Amino acid sequence: MRLLFATSEAAPLIKTGGLGDVSAALPAALHGMGVDVRILLPGYPQVLKALPFLQPAADFPLLPGFPPARLLSGAMPDGVPLWVIDCPELYRRGGGPYQDEHGQDWLDNAHRFGLLSKIAAVLGSADSPLDWKPDVLHCSDWQTGLAPAYLHFAPDAAPCVMTIHNLAFQGIFPLHTALELGLPGECLQPEGVEYYGNLSFLKAGLHYASHITTVSPFYAEEIQTDALGFNMQGLLAHRRGVLSGILNGIDTTEWNPAADPNLVQTYDAANIKGKSANKRELQRYMGLYADPDVPLLGLVSRFTYQKGLDLVLEIAPQLVEMPAQLVLLGSGEAGMQSKVLELSHRYSGQVGAYVGFDERLSHMIEAGADIFLMPSRFEPCGLNQMYSQRYGTPPVVHATGGLIDTVVDCNAVTLKRGEATGFVFDSADAPGLLGAVRRAVAAYRNKKTWRALQRNGMAKDFGWSRSAVAYRDIYSRLVR
Ligand code: ADP
Repeated sequence: MRLLFATSEAAPLIKTGGLGDVSAALPAALHGMGVDVRILLPGYPQVLKALPFLQPAADFPLLPGFPPARLLSGAMPDGVPLWVIDCPELYRRGGGPYQDEHGQDWLDNAHRFGLLSKIAAVLGSADSPLDWKPDVLHCSDWQTGLAPAYLHFAPDAAPCVMTIHNLAFQGIFPLHTALELGLPGECLQPEGVEYYGNLSFLKAGLHYASHITTVSPFYAEEIQTDALGFNMQGLLAHRRGVLSGILNGIDTTEWNPAADPNLVQTYDAANIKGKSANKRELQRYMGLYADPDVPLLGLVSRFTYQKGLDLVLEIAPQLVEMPAQLVLLGSGEAGMQSKVLELSHRYSGQVGAYVGFDERLSHMIEAGADIFLMPSRFEPCGLNQMYSQRYGTPPVVHATGGLIDTVVDCNAVTLKRGEATGFVFDSADAPGLLGAVRRAVAAYRNKKTWRALQRNGMAKDFGWSRSAVAYRDIYSRLVR
């Protein structure tokens, strides 16, 4: 099985969220199972700097609508083969993959990710300049959404899988952009790439892909409803016969409390005492009062409405009153960022915050916090709630998407069965969240219950093997 895995981010080279984690871990798991997988990634400066020994593999001087580009070949740090698209005009600049330093979307994103999609499609068709041709092309999110559309019009095209990591991001541009990007006029219609008068990269992918997947079984159902379908529910319901929900796994090497180099002390379920040194360190590092007994709540998240950060801000005074401590790490909407900082100043010693992206601190929070907060209004899969269970830090989550698929609410029945791993609340509002936090803090005060919760979570298998097999089965079906 030869698989081309096209993506706009892959950790540790470039990551803004869960897509980056998944785009590294899933190909690695497939590679380990014998799949001949190649990752295709734009040549952002971060990628080129981390991989100075890439070799030229092919040139694309004349792709209609795009500046000249070159394909470079190399490998991910974990050894998975990698192709990088070097196109200085589109990719070599400061800022992030999608936005500039000020958080504004790059004005040429349609071309940046049109090129990624185009080259993925060329490599998956008879037009490829390479000898290696994939049996299947796997695309992720809107940034690769045009690839299935290009493939539809290409000779001898490979079948393709389109994975939705988050339906809220759709890659919307003026409709005529599709022509600039070299797509034929016949696809500018609802039975094509058109979406309410615009071009939608994601819609294109969902319409033309051979198979659609999303990152949890529950989210696969939710996106077919008016509430969470983002106006794609009709299309998705229509294509439900080729829509699968496959739960994301986590990288259990990267996220392993027994061997995590970011921790002051490693620990495992049999030796959970080592966790307390990490709490002490987190309190010190974030300027909180040293107190081994106060419940310490942690959050690592993009600061957006989706993630329910506003709910945490709303109940912060009650949390401080309990008393509990709070550590927040993230970045995103400017208004939320300043509110978070304001909170940490108002309650200094009890609330600590860092605005920015800090991989090491995210590990320290998973290990040092007692309780992890994830009140997302919707959550396609979510990774942090899985990390936190593995780190013996039971999560408080809203009942949505992948959070439902991965967290078992703590009650008398689930505790008795040895299944409880966290606290799930139904209503995405401040009273709902506060009620669940109060339940969590009460359980935290009961040593026996708490240990049971920690043990249950730490024993769960969140690794990639089962999900990677499910993806491989889909590829095999498509090839047959
Ligand atoms: P999403 O992809 O919607 O942002 P996920 O829970 O699927 O949410 O994945 C988020 C990933 O990004 C996790 O690995 C999380 O630890 C990481 N992350 C998010 N914000 C930060 C941050 N500010 N610093 C470090 N890691 C972060």
